[in-house]
Parts: sequence; C-alpha cells; structure tokens
Amino acid sequence: MRQAYQDLLDLFLPPSCWICGQGSCTDRRFGSSDDDVDGMTPHLPPTTMLCKRCWDELLVCRAPRSCTACGMPLPSDVQQCPHCRDHRFHFEHVFALGVYQEPLRTAVYQIKHPAGWRFAEEMARLVVRIQARTLIEQGFQSVTWVPSHWSRRLNRKCTPALTLAATIANELNLPLHHLLRRCKRTKKQGLLGPAARRRNLDGSFAPKKSYLSRRSRAMTIPSKVLLVDDVLTTGTTCDEASKTLKKLGVGQVSVLVIARATGA
Ligand SMILES: [Zn+2]
Ligand SMILES: [Zn+2]
Repeated sequence: MRQAYQDLLDLFLPPSCWICGQGSCTDRRFGSSDDDVDGMTPHLPPTTMLCKRCWDELLVCRAPRSCTACGMPLPSDVQQCPHCRDHRFHFEHVFALGVYQEPLRTAVYQIKHPAGWRFAEEMARLVVRIQARTLIEQGFQSVTWVPSHWSRRLNRKCTPALTLAATIANELNLPLHHLLRRCKRTKKQGLLGPAARRRNLDGSFAPKKSYLSRRSRAMTIPSKVLLVDDVLTTGTTCDEASKTLKKLGVGQVSVLVIARATGA
C-alpha cells in the first residue's frame, strides 16, 4: 500500500536525487543490465532515486579488495589485514556496499531520516545485488539487525537497520528474526576511544525474551545469521551484538552494512 502510494506520487512529482538533490536527469531509470559500470556488476536493479552522476560515484566507493573478516579495504600488496591481526571479532565476515566516504556518507545520512525508508530499501537491494553470489554461498538461515534503544527510536521515529534487514531478508528469501534487544542506552560511540567504546557497550544487548525459553531455543535459534546495520566503524557495536547472538546459541554471525568506515 505504502509502495503503491509512493509510485503514484513519483508519477506526478518525479523525485529528486536522494544524495545531491538534483532532479535534472532526463532518463531517471538506469542501473539496469545495460548499465554495466565496470564489467563486474551487471544486472543491478534500476533506480529512480539517484541521478546518474551519484549512481556512478556510489559504485566507485566500493573497495577493489577488502579484508573478508573486518571489511577494511586492503592494498593489493598486503596479505594479512593489519586491522584485525591482533583482534578477533565475534563475527566471521563483513559485507559492505562500499567505504564510508562521499557520496555514500550522504546516502547513510539519508537512510537515517524518518522519510528515508524507501531509500534505505533501495540501498539494501543494491548491496544484496552487488554481493549476491557471496551472500548466497554463505548459506545463512536468518537475517537480524542491530537494534537501537527504545528511547532513540522514539526520538528518531525510524529504525533504519530494521528497514535494511527486512529488505535484505526479502531479497535473499530468508526469514527475518528479531533476536536482539538494546537493554541499555549508550553514549555516542564516535566521541569515545577504543577502550571506552567497549566499556560503553558492555552488556548493552540482550536476547529477545521470546528466545530465552528452552523450548523456543530448540526450535528457532538459527545457526548462521546475517546481522545488519547501517555503518561499521570500529566494529565494537557489531562485535558486542554478535557476542550476544553467540551466547544465545547462534553458531556463526556475519555482518552486512551499507558503509565501512576506515577512520581516514
Ligand atoms: Zn545525485
Ligand atoms: Zn581485517
């Protein structure tokens, strides 16, 4: 219903680009199989939400090579990732649409906007389509998301990680499970150092109560889970969420984000 309303609205009021705000593109439908940007990404879904320039620049945000364990871009001559050499995360893999730089930075800002749910769905479809083969090979049994505290949801009036996860589950034909809850309101991570980040997040996630009974655990805890969030910065938040999922009985957690911050 919501989608039909938006489609009708787009027909009479063509949307402007969600990243740069320009609306001058004459052919707004691009990104089809004919739009094979670099020979590596055929069959991308068409979009009406970006202009051609932002679409091209968005795809440039993809790192040619990145660490499969932490998602950090790697130079071609580096064999062992220096970012996770001395630190083991509770998640096994990171998938990302690209590096957290413009125009992906603005794209992430927009999906956090209360009116950005449809753009979030578009970005989720794009990341799945780009990573489709690897994601399917992983054999995930369930998709879940990094939840926010109820007081933040009240302020923000949207849950971008949930919107992303729901679309990703739908695209991959997997069930969406609400496995975690945020039981502590934490300080903004960006203002804290690495040690303080860990202390801040310690105990901030808990399993959803419905998964705590022995009966439901036996029936529904999936062994391979795809955990979705909008951005991965130091990885501390997803690590803490993955730790909680593993305590719950999940065997393997992989993370999917729209953008991977490099700290640069
Ligand atoms: Zn644009
Ligand atoms: Zn790494």
